[in-house]
Amino acid sequence: AQGTGQPDTARSAALAARASRVIPGGVNSPVRAYGSVGGTPRFLVSGRGPYVTDADGTEYVDLVASWGPALLGHAQPEVIAAVQAAAARGLGFGASVPEEAELAEEIIRRVPLIERLRLVSTGTEATMTAIRLARGATGRPLIIKFAGHYHGHSDGLLAEAGSGLATLALPGSAGVTAETAGQTLVLPYNDLPALEAAFAEHGDRIAGVIAEAAAANMGVLPPEPGFTRGMIELAHRHGALVIIDEVLTGFRSGPSGYWGLQAAGATGEDFPEGVAPDLFTFGKVVGGGLPLAALGGRAELMDLLAPLGPVYQAGTLSGNPVAVAAGLTTLRLADAAAYARLATAADTLALSVSEALTSAGVAHRIARAGTLFSVAFGDYERAPRTYADMQRQDVVKHRAFFHAMLAGGVNLPPSAFEAWFVTAAHDDAALERIARVLPAAAVAAARA
Ligand code: PMP
Repeated sequence: AQGTGQPDTARSAALAARASRVIPGGVNSPVRAYGSVGGTPRFLVSGRGPYVTDADGTEYVDLVASWGPALLGHAQPEVIAAVQAAAARGLGFGASVPEEAELAEEIIRRVPLIERLRLVSTGTEATMTAIRLARGATGRPLIIKFAGHYHGHSDGLLAEAGSGLATLALPGSAGVTAETAGQTLVLPYNDLPALEAAFAEHGDRIAGVIAEAAAANMGVLPPEPGFTRGMIELAHRHGALVIIDEVLTGFRSGPSGYWGLQAAGATGEDFPEGVAPDLFTFGKVVGGGLPLAALGGRAELMDLLAPLGPVYQAGTLSGNPVAVAAGLTTLRLADAAAYARLATAADTLALSVSEALTSAGVAHRIARAGTLFSVAFGDYERAPRTYADMQRQDVVKHRAFFHAMLAGGVNLPPSAFEAWFVTAAHDDAALERIARVLPAAAVAAARA
């Protein structure tokens, strides 16, 4: 592609072909395959700050941030040093290490409702364990989830899930038995009357409600004012638990997660004393880029986990010292200045995207949840509030926009149904590089 102004993708294409021979679809997580946008998925070989470099040597401003974990940017020097020091002491022992409690304390400091925390390796494990705990604590079988919310890929949580299932327009997964699927009630988001009806019909069989703190796996869609409070009050009135999934929003949408913003009144909502979630799940940022996630809650609930209680959960790699070092260092560095920079980067970027699309005449809606945002292409008379609204997005315009941005050196999530991730390393130079590409990408979207 020399001289055409298009980046060369020969090496990425060869690597994709090679990977496809030995890995299903050439990827170890579906959205990476560019299924909904087409074209050659870029193989990345390095990252630094807000930038990533692909196998052909092209550098991009990155707005994926490892799908969230890279809160401080890629290869943050102090995080890398902490990881190297931990690795030099040994990669893991299958015994407790001192830093596990330090990480738990750091998370509890940020979310004081949590008294005990258990470390696991993936967000999937965290939510899977949280629903097992809800069932174990209540002795009830049913779980409520909301359409378009993604909680990882455990059997019971795949129905009408966001993320890759939204990208590939899948209602659920083969291989999940009807019995298992039947234990999950899927309800429309932001619809308290639907939740009330479900509790009226099945109230004494519902163990818990699980919700993303702010939905961010169908694009960003925060709860409408009053929804979270109504959900908690309804669940508690019927003896069910509330699990707030902060795997994506946790310590990214704000220093105490999205619930922290809500509880502090930053979203204009009001939570009376005692109206609070029972369990929280975290992932992504808490591992600073290595495999680590967590679930936490009140002591009386969390102590139902083995070895103290009857709810079993375990993991060879749980609390791995190298992952703990990455997470702990990331959280310690994520101070007020880092969150201020994240907020400025998100504000600046959201505004410049909106201006570029508006000048090109492209109808769109930008939704925000703290420092997270996403762009929904489409003619929305009112702000989207459900999965059905998000599914009406114009994926053809998204595809044209995505490829124009990529050709201009900006790495966006390769799906219309994902949040855009800024980092604290997105400085003015990185934001200006994005701003230079936006007008042409907006025109490409207009023509699509
Ligand atoms: N919950 C939410 C809200 C998520 O965004 C994700 C991952 N995107 C998960 C759970 C699953 O986490 P993991 O991919 O680490 O299993």
